[in-house]
This record gives sequence, C-alpha cells and structure tokens, in this order.
Amino acid sequence: MTIDLRSDTVTKPTPPMLQAMMQAPVGDDVFGEDPTVNQLEEKCAKLLGMDGAMFCPSGTMTNQIGIKVLTQSYEEVICYKGSHIYKYEGGGLAGNSNVSVRLLNGERGRLAVEEIEGNINNAKDAHQSITSVVALENTVVREAGSYYKLSQIRAVSEFARSKNLKMHLDGARLFNALTETGDSPMEHGKYFDTISICLSKGLGAPVGSILAFKKEYETKARRMRKAFGGGMRQAGFLAAAGIYALDNHVKRLKEDHTKAKALGKELQNLHWVKSVMPVDTNIVLFEVASNLTPERVLGKFNEQGIKALPFSQTEIRLVTHLDFTDDMLNKTVETFKKISF
Ligand SMILES: *Cc1c(COP(=O)(O)O)cnc(C)c1O
Repeated sequence: MTIDLRSDTVTKPTPPMLQAMMQAPVGDDVFGEDPTVNQLEEKCAKLLGMDGAMFCPSGTMTNQIGIKVLTQSYEEVICYKGSHIYKYEGGGLAGNSNVSVRLLNGERGRLAVEEIEGNINNAKDAHQSITSVVALENTVVREAGSYYKLSQIRAVSEFARSKNLKMHLDGARLFNALTETGDSPMEHGKYFDTISICLSKGLGAPVGSILAFKKEYETKARRMRKAFGGGMRQAGFLAAAGIYALDNHVKRLKEDHTKAKALGKELQNLHWVKSVMPVDTNIVLFEVASNLTPERVLGKFNEQGIKALPFSQTEIRLVTHLDFTDDMLNKTVETFKKISF
C-alpha cells in the first residue's frame, strides 16, 4: 500500500463522482452552451455571494486571471511573502500582469491592517508603482493551512476599500478554512472583487477551479481565460465533478483536519522531528532534527511506502485528503514510531 501525503491534489474521482461526470449533459462552453458548466458557475456565484463565476482548468489560472482583471501594468499587488500567487505560479504575475509585488510577513501568512497600511505607495510620486490590490490567501499553504476568521477579512477589506484598493482572495482551500470557522461562504462576496477556489484539492475533483467576480470584471475575465488558453469545449464532464464535490465533499473536510492533527501530535514526540507548526486544517509542516535533512527522512518514508514533500531546506510537508483512509493513518503513525536514525 502506497500512502501519498504529498498533496490533497492526488485524489482520484470516487465511483459516484465518475458516474455524475459520465451522465453530465454537455455542450461547447466556448459558445457558452455547456449546461453543466453553466450550472456550476451559477452555483458558485451564488455560494460565494458574487455576481458571476467562471470555470477554469487550474487554480493558478483563476488567480492569474483575478489579478489580471484587477490591475494594469506597472501597478503593485500586496500579498504575503510566501503566497501561492507570488511563490508558486511560475512568475505569472510578472509575465501575465506586468505588476510588482509588495511582500508582507503577516502573522502565519495572515495580513492585518497595520502592516498593509505602511506598505501602500504614494500614487502621486512617480518613483513609486501604484498599489492597486490586496491579495489574501485562505488557507495559507506555506503556513501549514492557517486560516482567517471572517472578522479579520472584513477589517482588511474595509480598510483596503477606504484606500481604493481592490481585493482578491486565493481561496484554493477556502472550504477548509470555513470548516473550522463556521463562517458563511456567501459573506465573502461582500469583501472581495475576485475569489478563486479549487475543486481539485480537498474537494476531490480531478480538474478545475472557479473564479468568482463582481459584474464589472466578467467581460475581461472571460476574455483573459480565452487569451490564456483556458477556454474549454465539452467541459461539462469536468464541471459535473465539481458540482458533485461541492455537494458531497465539503462536510467531510473535517475528517481530513482530524487526521492531520493526529499526525501533527504524533510527530511532536519523535526524535527525528525538531518542531511541528500548529496544525489548523489539513496541512502538517514540520522541521526535521538539526542533524538530519528532509531528503534523509523522506528516504526512510519511501522505504515504507509513504510519500511526502520536502518543503524547504529543513521542512517536510504532509497533506491529508479524501483518499487517506483511517487504515492509512494508523499505518503512517506506526511507521513514524518505528523510524530511527
Ligand atoms: C494549489 C493552490 C493553488 C492552485 O494550484 P493549481 O495546481 O494551479 O490548481 C492556488 N493557491 C493555493 C494556495 C494553492 O494551494
């Protein structure tokens, strides 16, 4: 048995999800004629309290389009220094939007008004780029899935708007955050201009992300999806997986969190672990003991059929998901206890 904890993207569609996909009515979505894509888009717009939504192949694409529609060349985006849009999207912000970034420390990746306030450029000074967007990430992948409460988001959004800044949310794992806070997804529409969510992470769809937006951004967003090569044809087969995931896989995210917390707790007691970041959702991030490297520890994992990701010079990441069963959790814990160096 191989246990794959590298990411929550490794899941395969369940039999009922596949069934839903195969039965989907489809059409040409570039002509706006795929009923299943349209259904998913309407569902997501409503769910997130937004005017519209658009189905795309990946979360990278929805983030890139989100920033593209909110900015012009030479402007600046404020984000956390380890944010996905900056660190893990292939330099896309520079290439696609020609913008610079102002990287903030945040508190485990969560930005607050005080830090943002001191990092808005003076638009009247020709030396400085014009700050135009604050981009938040929820949960924060680089910080072991830390999450915002809606009250923190509201404070940032109200302040940003008072400064004429737009708001983007990278909500790849928004539903993991909401599982912990109990906040309503619909409220998010009030505080953001664009929201991206992933259907292919913890929700378990094989492909797909959604960009939800305010009305005024729809035309440009659809144009940009075409320009980025993301216009798909009978995409309803994929959208059906997204609909199924939203209807059936949101409630169970709590199980992933419980398993991640169990792994985090176990790791704290092991001699080959230096420290474990608090486990807030489904991501476990730990530092290996100072005499070891992630590669050495991962070598031992591999011998036992456990896959995980090196995340820095000193850290390893584990992510729990739909295909990580109770049996696998037990086997992982047993294996961790037996490993020695
Ligand atoms: C995975 C992820 C994305 C999107 O990734 P894709 O692999 O392109 O779908 C965006 N933001 C965060 C925080 C992510 O973890």
